[in-house]
Amino acid sequence: MIIAVDGPAASGKGTVARALARHFGLPHLDTGLLYRAVAHHVRRLDLDPAKEADAVAACDFDDRTLADPALRDDAVGQLASIVSAHPLVRAALFQRQKRFANQPGGAVLDGRDIGTVIAPDADVKLFVKANAAVRARRRHTELAERGQSLTYEQVLADIRARDARDSARATAPLTQAADAASLDTSNLTVEAAIARAIALVEGRVRGRTAGA
Ligand code: C5P
Repeated sequence: MIIAVDGPAASGKGTVARALARHFGLPHLDTGLLYRAVAHHVRRLDLDPAKEADAVAACDFDDRTLADPALRDDAVGQLASIVSAHPLVRAALFQRQKRFANQPGGAVLDGRDIGTVIAPDADVKLFVKANAAVRARRRHTELAERGQSLTYEQVLADIRARDARDSARATAPLTQAADAASLDTSNLTVEAAIARAIALVEGRVRGRTAGA
């Protein structure tokens, strides 16, 4: 079973995807980390994230980079949304995600274009969302816990800028697939969001079995 989980920054999609992977015994890939790794590499090599050729040169990173906690920094997230708009960067990371999605037994992937581009035939697609103020509050707390001292207003502005870039780009923009179920986590606890996601997946699987 392939489960595609998409949604904007700090919507809770990562938490939901990890929980679904645990619950259904599937491997999980946080595809945002791939774009964050490219961004991190661009920064380290002092390249220009706005130049497609520079960003493409940074796509050849070691898998170990994905475990680097620096990838979670807010500045890396912002840079990631700049490099991810380049079609050649998306193309360079495509096969890796496709292979992960199509491994025997299935997988859970979360990102922005999983249900629309990477796994358009996924068995279940979820679009996780939450209002910008709630997402900024969550991200602000998370960054503070990691020792990053940004104000709530800065985090809210960053989230809005990233939403705008991710939704407006020409290639694989952030958008809900027509056949995705939406899950609004604005007023849900983590436990309630996970329970709803599991129920949505089970409902979709039952629906497919009944319709088969
Ligand atoms: O999910 P996360 O916030 O870690 O993603 C960082 C950035 O990577 C996003 O703002 C988006 O620009 C990009 N991204 C993407 N496609 C994905 C996953 C992430 O364009 N599938």
